[in-house]
Amino acid sequence: MTTERMKNLHPYVPGEQPKDRDYIKLNANENPYPPSPVVAKTAVRVARKYAARLGLYPDPDSNALKSAIAAMLNQTGGVLCRTELRGGKKNGSGAVCSPSAQDRIPFAVTPDMVYCGNGSDEVLSFVFYAFFDSDRPVVLPSFTYSFYPVYAGFYAIPLNAVPLRSDWSLDTQNMLAEANATDSGIIFANPNAPTGIGLTRAQVDAMIRAAPKDRVFVVDEAYVDFGGESCIPLLAEHKNLLIVRTFSKSLCGAGMRLGYVVASPELVAHLTTVKNSLNHFPVDVMAQRLGIAACGDAGYYARCARLIVCERDDFAAFLRARGWFVLPSQTNFVFAKKDGVRAEETYRAIKAAGILVRHFSAAGIEDFLRITIGTRAQMDALKAVMESL
Ligand SMILES: *Cc1c(COP(=O)(O)O)cnc(C)c1O
Repeated sequence: MTTERMKNLHPYVPGEQPKDRDYIKLNANENPYPPSPVVAKTAVRVARKYAARLGLYPDPDSNALKSAIAAMLNQTGGVLCRTELRGGKKNGSGAVCSPSAQDRIPFAVTPDMVYCGNGSDEVLSFVFYAFFDSDRPVVLPSFTYSFYPVYAGFYAIPLNAVPLRSDWSLDTQNMLAEANATDSGIIFANPNAPTGIGLTRAQVDAMIRAAPKDRVFVVDEAYVDFGGESCIPLLAEHKNLLIVRTFSKSLCGAGMRLGYVVASPELVAHLTTVKNSLNHFPVDVMAQRLGIAACGDAGYYARCARLIVCERDDFAAFLRARGWFVLPSQTNFVFAKKDGVRAEETYRAIKAAGILVRHFSAAGIEDFLRITIGTRAQMDALKAVMESL
């Protein structure tokens, strides 16, 4: 009954969302904090105002949302929280969102450089469709966001997965050698998942300079607000650079399904062509309005990010003090393993105690647990469970 192309589908398996029990969820890198009070208020207002107008389509191109995203990026320099560099206070009050001169984006991000979609997952699928072809492989790291291979299967695009280095960082030299050998595009998350390790902007800049100029170079910045460096400033120079971002992690909005691209207007126009050939209206009225509200309160999200960063560093220290090997994280999760500890069993024991963390069975990372950073209370609960094991 099914088509040939169905054979290429290998659906992504998301972190479990069980409803049988009220678990503490530290398995899907969701933000433990509620959205800004401004967003909550907007939700109520929009529900009232648009209830009578639900029969009307939303703006197909999310123009007001694009403007709000551009304004937020210009205001913050593309990263919500740089307190690691500035010594912010532990309670989050030291979080800053206005960048110093050296962190500012050296040009104005304009709305025509932004593309909005139904979660960055949808946006990424359009990126694969528009820019990667079946005539040559896409180069990516052996361990990165595991949805990329799913899209590659969907569109029948071959992959060239380059092993990580022994310290779990990207092997940029080998990735470049492979990309140049086949004149291929490149994609990775920065900071990377599930490792949590990031490249500096200067490292990505050097990489783009040495990569094929006629192929799109994709950097997925889903986690950049937790201590990474954004590559948005590099758009001034690199017309083949495409940056993917999401409201799901640092903007406390996984349930809104909002993702976006920042790139040259030319690349954005191609994504719009794909959208208009598949689904004219990927972002509903509510998500557009709530996204705009979220962009207007960057300070709130910067404080949340700062709290998460403090909690992450505490938790990594807790694990290390107990003999765990913890990769240096610039994200809202840690990736850790311990000699003599079977990760899958530990995952099960933690789950039995009411807390969900993530275990990947893929060969090479099967000894690790990926643990999302929650609130202080959630992390205290997890620490207590881990002490008792
Ligand atoms: C969470 C995540 C996404 C997906 O985000 P959505 O906007 O919720 O679809 C994309 N890329 C990476 C690397 C992620 O970790």
